[in-house]
Amino acid sequence: MTENPDKAAAAPVAGPPAEEAAARGTPAGAESPAVARMRETVCALHAELVRYNLVAWTAGNVSGRVPGEDLFVIKPSGVPYDELTPESMVVCDLDGNRVSGTYTPSSDTAAHAYIYRHMPHVGGVVHTHSPYASAWAARGEPIPCVLTAMADEFGGDIPVGPFALIGGDEIGKGVVETLTGHRSPAVLMRNHGVFTIGDSPRAAVKAAVMCEDVARTVHLARQLGEPLPLAQDDIDRLYDRYQNVYGQRGSR
Ligand SMILES: [Zn+2]
Repeated sequence: MTENPDKAAAAPVAGPPAEEAAARGTPAGAESPAVARMRETVCALHAELVRYNLVAWTAGNVSGRVPGEDLFVIKPSGVPYDELTPESMVVCDLDGNRVSGTYTPSSDTAAHAYIYRHMPHVGGVVHTHSPYASAWAARGEPIPCVLTAMADEFGGDIPVGPFALIGGDEIGKGVVETLTGHRSPAVLMRNHGVFTIGDSPRAAVKAAVMCEDVARTVHLARQLGEPLPLAQDDIDRLYDRYQNVYGQRGSR
């Protein structure tokens, strides 16, 4: 469960964040251009979750690490996607404490923060309950690598992470433990949904879109019979080609 679908848009929290920021030693109104850019980026990427049918109501979120600062920007809790603005995004430190922004951050903030603290190469994190991928998560079954597009993007199966309740570090810990040393940028958290990582928030959104796409196709294949496996050798070659050769340099 991410956001509570029945909850109205989160009310601004009492106490101006500027005072809190000042209490932490950050001068009020001193957000860097990098923070401002990340507010724009993270806000705009939420529209992609809607466009690709990855979310219902407010149950999904994107965050992005601010380059060169120990901060990330994340969706406010319970605010509808079409009401999001760059200003409504919440800036948090890597412990998940809000340092700037009027709204309460996403209820998944602790998980995002844990991932940023423990995976320094990660620049973006996405969480959704996208339906086909979450159906695999509900069964606790990894999505087998039976399509070339899966080999390209995920380099193998999409793994399942442990069951964990929202609120503390358990979800973040499960994501980090499952994805560390794994090629896949996506994990199916058991009985819950999808977390994806990327070197940027856009890359993490792309992984979430591709995860749902292959979850649907492999599900359809299963209705027709048993999908044919890909040879590990071919998976390795496809992954290497896609990650290193495919596309326009710098465009992914
Ligand atoms: Zn969730």
